[in-house]
Amino acid sequence: MMTQTGTNSSRRRCAGLEEAQRHAEYLIGGRRYERIPSGGACADCGAGPGKLHVAGCEEEICPRCGGLVIACDCAYGARRAC
Ligand SMILES: [Zn+2]
Ligand SMILES: [Zn+2]
Repeated sequence: MMTQTGTNSSRRRCAGLEEAQRHAEYLIGGRRYERIPSGGACADCGAGPGKLHVAGCEEEICPRCGGLVIACDCAYGARRAC
């Protein structure tokens, strides 16, 4: 449900790219962490260089452990909340 791909995704259930830019932080284990922007054009969610990934993107790096957000074990408060 959270691995939808495609560039024409303005109607997807989860927040889109524009919405993602408004959420610059993650709440992990009760602490706030600044999200890590895309280094280049993201192949998964389409975020451009310096832009934040869409929620659920497979390429986003976890700001706490450096792993992938979708795969790490950090206690996100709202990682999958759409
Ligand atoms: Zn992405
Ligand atoms: Zn993590």
